[in-house]
Amino acid sequence: MQQNIYLLGAPGAGKGTQAELLAKKLGIPQLSTGEMLRSARLEGSELGKRVAAIMDAGKLVSDDVVIALVEQRLCRPDHQNGVILDGFPRTIPQAEALDALFARAGRSALKVIAIDVPADEIRRRLSGRRWCTTCKKTYHITDNPPPDGPSCEGIGTCRLEVRSDDKPEAVEKRLQTYEEQTSPLLAYYRGKGAFYSVNGTGKISDIFSAVMSCLSA
Ligand code: AMP
Repeated sequence: MQQNIYLLGAPGAGKGTQAELLAKKLGIPQLSTGEMLRSARLEGSELGKRVAAIMDAGKLVSDDVVIALVEQRLCRPDHQNGVILDGFPRTIPQAEALDALFARAGRSALKVIAIDVPADEIRRRLSGRRWCTTCKKTYHITDNPPPDGPSCEGIGTCRLEVRSDDKPEAVEKRLQTYEEQTSPLLAYYRGKGAFYSVNGTGKISDIFSAVMSCLSA
């Protein structure tokens, strides 16, 4: 059965971490628009150049751009058994476009899991977050430290960096953007059926257990 899961939450709520664990456990791919945009920047593509300043300012890339990225990705053969959406949709028009894409493709309904984390905990998390530009893995200096040694995945030289949008000014803007443009999705999906909410504070493994129990509910 096709399983389509959407993790909804503020930046730093742990969507990426939980999406990665879910992808491993369920054997379905994680679709992260943030990751796709960061890869475009690293490649130096036209798209990457266009979105860099917007991302670093903590604002949202335009709906058309991210919807087109998601549409292409959802057509791939390895996305036909399901997908874990991480960071998309982030606005009501994106959610409506996703509904239309799902209807056209005959995909099974989304299960929505909201991960709830207070703003002060988010600030603490983002200030300690590190991102590997090689493996694309995310760590936290105390909560989820990178392994010792030269590489996080044993594939050569890794470079851990602070994401440019994790700097304090950008974080405040991202929190504001979340409140204004993304949090209305809570009401949008709550009214639609398979909606669950988990407490996103505490141990990563405990939050993962809570996420898994939503899926079997
Ligand atoms: P994330 O890694 O999900 O925190 O995304 C990093 C940044 O990429 C965001 O702050 C936005 O600038 C951009 N971005 C990612 N996903 C979206 C989306 N669905 N809509 C608009 N912008 C996005």
